[in-house]
Amino acid sequence: MAKDLSESQIQYTKGVGPHRVKLLSRLGIRTVEDALYYLPYRYEDRSNLQKISDLHYNNVETASGKVISAEVKRLSHRNLKIFELTLNDGSGLLKGKWFNQPFMKNNFRVGQEVMLCGVVKRNPYLGIGFEMENPEYEIVSDDASSRPTDDAFIHTNRVVPVYRTTSGLSVRQIRSIMFNLINTGITDIHDPVPVDILKRNGLPGLTESLSGVHFPNSNATMAFLNRGTSEFHKRLAFEELFMLELGLAVIKTDNVLEKGIPFNPEGLLLRRLVDMLPFSLTGAQERVFSEILADMKRPSPMNRLIQGDVGCGKTVVALMAIMAAAECGFQSALMVPTEILAEQHFINLHHIVEGLGLKICLLTGSIKDRPLNEIASGGIDIVIGTHALIQEGVIFKNLGLVIIDEQHRFGVMQRALLRKKAFNPDVLVMTATPIPRTLALTLYGDLDYSIIDELPPNRTPIRTLLFSPKQKEAIYHLIREEVKRKRQVYVVYPVIEESEKTDLRSAINGKNAFEKSFPELRVGLIHGRIKAQEREQIMTSFKSGELDLLVCTTVIEVGVDVPNATLMLIIHAERFGLSQLHQLRGRVGRGAHGSSCILVAYEPYGEDARRRLDIMVGSNDGFRIAEEDLDIRGPGEFLGTRQSGMPDLRIANIVRDAKLLNVARQEAFSLIRKDPGLKEFPLLRDSLERFWKEKIELFKTG
Ligand code: ADP
Ligand code: MG
Repeated sequence: MAKDLSESQIQYTKGVGPHRVKLLSRLGIRTVEDALYYLPYRYEDRSNLQKISDLHYNNVETASGKVISAEVKRLSHRNLKIFELTLNDGSGLLKGKWFNQPFMKNNFRVGQEVMLCGVVKRNPYLGIGFEMENPEYEIVSDDASSRPTDDAFIHTNRVVPVYRTTSGLSVRQIRSIMFNLINTGITDIHDPVPVDILKRNGLPGLTESLSGVHFPNSNATMAFLNRGTSEFHKRLAFEELFMLELGLAVIKTDNVLEKGIPFNPEGLLLRRLVDMLPFSLTGAQERVFSEILADMKRPSPMNRLIQGDVGCGKTVVALMAIMAAAECGFQSALMVPTEILAEQHFINLHHIVEGLGLKICLLTGSIKDRPLNEIASGGIDIVIGTHALIQEGVIFKNLGLVIIDEQHRFGVMQRALLRKKAFNPDVLVMTATPIPRTLALTLYGDLDYSIIDELPPNRTPIRTLLFSPKQKEAIYHLIREEVKRKRQVYVVYPVIEESEKTDLRSAINGKNAFEKSFPELRVGLIHGRIKAQEREQIMTSFKSGELDLLVCTTVIEVGVDVPNATLMLIIHAERFGLSQLHQLRGRVGRGAHGSSCILVAYEPYGEDARRRLDIMVGSNDGFRIAEEDLDIRGPGEFLGTRQSGMPDLRIANIVRDAKLLNVARQEAFSLIRKDPGLKEFPLLRDSLERFWKEKIELFKTG
C-alpha cells in the first residue's frame, strides 16, 4: 500500500465530516488505508432486485418497498414477541419477522423505503403471501421521494457489500464512503507486492483487488465472496501473509548474520550425563539433540523450536544442550512460565547436575537472597527461573544458552528483546502445546524447527473417562484402588476458593472434603497463593511419596513430573480448554504404570464443552487435540497472537488460507535471500516497516 494512503486521514474523504471521523475511528478506521482494508463481512446479490410479486419461495432474495406497518405482536400461548414489518412495492406485500427483538421497532417508521434480504417463505398458517424470518435489512431512505439517483447504483442493481456498522453509522453510509474511495482514491495506488510474484501466482493487482472486494462486478461468485475466497480476497490475504513472512524472513536472516558462539564441546560431560540416566534416549531425542548440537557448533546464534507432546522427554534434551554449553565454559538459563515449574525443574535436576560438578541455582520472584554475585562472577553454571530472570537485569558472566520451556507465548518480540541483551546466546524454545505445522511456521516462522515425535518406550496410554459428579462412589473406589497399589493421585480444581460469583467447586473445600472421606490418606494442597517455600515442601513430599493425594489448581498444569502419580481427577472438566486439559492430563502416564484421567463434568454444559470432553476421551494425541482446539476456538484465540508479538491479521485467516500462507512464505524467504535489505523494492520495504510497526526494528543494519 502506498505511503500516501496510510498517511492520508479519512477526514479528507468526500462524505466524511468530523462527526463521522469519530464514528469511523470506532471501527478502527483512521486513514484511507484503514478504510480500504475494512472489508465487507458479507455480500448481497441485488443485481436482480425482485418485484415482491415475483419472489420465489425458499430462495434467498432481496426486495424493497415502502413500510406500511411496523408493530410488535405477542403470541400469547408461547409468550413470544414478534416484530413485524410490512412492505409494499406496488406489486405486493412482503413481511419481515423478528422473534423476541421488540426493540427492532425503533429502527423503522411508516413511509420509509426499506430493503429486505432473506429466505422467502409463505405464511405458515395461510400458506400464501411472502415472508422472511430475521431478514437482513437496509433502510433505503426515509421517504421514497428523496432518494438520490446515483445512490440507487451503489446500493442496488449489483452485488453489494455489507459492512459491520457502529451505532450512528449505517451500512449504507459506510457503503457510500467506500464507493467514493474506490472510485476516486485508489487510482495512483502503488502495489507493494512485486509484479513477478503476482504473475507467478496468478494474483490480480492491488487496485483491481480493492475494487473487487468492495464492489464486485456482476459475474463474481457469491459463495466465494461470502467465504472470503474470491481471487481478490485471496490477493489481499496473500499480501498480508507475504508481509508477515517477509518480516519473519528478515528476522531470521538477521539471526544468521548475527555473531553467536561457536560451541565446540568435546562431549565428556555429555557422555557422563548420558551414562547417569536410568534410561536410554529415544531415537527422536537423539536426532533432535544432534540437530541442536549442529546449531550450537555454528558461529551464528541458534534459534530453534522443539515441539513434542507432553511426556516425550524434552527436559533431558535440554539438559544435554546445557552440558554442551557448560563444557565450553558458558552459563545456561532455563526459563519457565511458572514458579512451580521452575522449582520442579530445580528439584529434578540439581542432583544430576551437581553430580557432574556443576553449580545450579533457582531464581524466581519469591526467592529472597538471590545469588546475583555468583551469577555475575560465573560461579554458577545454570540458572533456573521464571522469565523475570531475564527481565530484571540479572547480569551473567557469559550466558551462552537460553532455554525457554513450555511457553508457546514467548513470541518473536520477546526473543528479539532477548537477543538485544547483547548476549546473543543460543536460544532453544520448547513447547508441549503441539501446533499444526502451518501454524508453527507462522508463529515461530523465524525459528528452525525440530520435533520429538516419539514417546519413551513402555508407556501405557492414559485411559480417559468421563464421569458425572453423581458417580462419586465409583470415583472414590478408583482412588482407593490406586492408593492401595501405592500410587498417587492429583485432584485438580478450577478455583482456589469458593466465591459468590461462580458456583464452582474449589480446591480448599475439596481438600477438606477429601480429608473427611479418606481419613486414612495423606492429603496435600497446593495452589498459586501458597508461599514458594511451603509449595516446594509440598511438591517435594508429593514427589517422594509422603502424600497420597494432591489437591491442586492448574498451577501444576505444565512441566510437573511425578512418575508415580497415576490417577488424575479434573473437577469441572467442562470448564477447561482443550489444550489445558491435555496438559493437565500429561501429569500422569509419565512412568511405566498404567494411568487414568477422570474428567468430572457438571451439567448442564454447552455443545463446545461436550465436544472438548469427547475429544479428550477419544484421543491422547496432542497434535490431533491441537487441530480440534484450533477448530473450536479459531486461530486468533488459539494462538493468542497479541501476546506473541505478531502483527494482527485483518484479512487473512491462517486456517482458511493455509495454502496461501505456504506460498507467501516461500516467496518471502526467497526474496529476502536475493535482496536481504529490499534495496530494489523501496516501496515494499516501507510497507513492511509499517506492517510490523514498532513491533520490531526490522532493518537495524540498514
Ligand atoms: P516433557 O517432554 O513433557 O517435558 P519430561 O522431560 O518431563 O517430558 O519427561 C517425562 C518423563 O519421561 C520424565 O520422568 C523423564 O525422566 C522420562 N524420560 C525422558 N526420556 C526418557 C527415555 N528416553 N526413556 C524413558 N523415560 C524417559
Ligand atoms: Mg517439560
